[in-house]
Amino acid sequence: MIHSELLFYLSMTMIVSGIVAFFVLLFVPSPYGRNANSAFGPPVPAKIAWLIQEIPAFLIPVYFIIELLFFKTSDSANVRDAILLLAPFIMHYFQRSLIYPMLIREGKPMPAVPFLLAFIFCIYNGYLQSSYIINYGYFHWDFISAAGYALFAAGMAGNIHSDQILRSLRKPGETGYKIPHGGLFSLVSGANFLAEIIEWTGFALLNRSLPAVAFALFTAANTAPRAWHHHLWYLKKFGDEYPKNRKAILPYLI
Ligand code: NDP
Repeated sequence: MIHSELLFYLSMTMIVSGIVAFFVLLFVPSPYGRNANSAFGPPVPAKIAWLIQEIPAFLIPVYFIIELLFFKTSDSANVRDAILLLAPFIMHYFQRSLIYPMLIREGKPMPAVPFLLAFIFCIYNGYLQSSYIINYGYFHWDFISAAGYALFAAGMAGNIHSDQILRSLRKPGETGYKIPHGGLFSLVSGANFLAEIIEWTGFALLNRSLPAVAFALFTAANTAPRAWHHHLWYLKKFGDEYPKNRKAILPYLI
């Protein structure tokens, strides 16, 4: 199989598994955090789980860029394009694997099954995005790329801000749940998830590649059902106290 075919099949597999995951996760909430379930394996401490499962998606693109810069003969336009296209991915996973875990406040341990699935996914996706960009990525100097960066930046800022709001709800030692307010939470219960979807939609616009579109779709398929379950959970737990106009994942709609 030639390399471009391999990346095509990896992307299509991601899209198909995203569709399957979407329907499964609508009925079975992803089993971590408030939905953690001991049937899904022994617990891994939250900070360690997030660090280990996410770090491949940071290290793999960094490795590819270092190889391109120092060990391959490639023209400067190719190097420039690879850096411009991969930089948002590297920035996101630097934050997610090295900063986010340190900030988690009294997070529930992660059962082994979702931990291992996330770890495998980060290797798979880290390779897919990096290998595609290094070999075939082309940076378009146009308005769509500017919109892609803007969307990615807004999504990443919204994601970090929403996670910060959630963290600030707990005092040291507290493990319970409260109603989040402010930022995107004034619109949806899954504010961090909505922002994450915006981020990877921006990345897909910037890259205009099948792997990047597959990842944006996979993220939406994975996080939208989680936002939906969180929303139902809040409504059940807080009843009339919960803001009436707040939707699950799509402002004003769902
Ligand atoms: P959650 O919103 O379920 O939890 C985030 C953190 O906030 C956890 O530590 C949780 O504690 C705590 N928390 C959540 N709600 C409350 C509340 N009401 N009161 C107090 N504390 C609360 O997010 P996830 O853990 O699912 O995801 C974390 C990050 O990873 C997000 O930014 C998300 O976008 C991203 N992600 C990306 C995916 C992708 O496909 N790209 C997939 C999944 C997540 P506890 O652990 O005790 O519940």
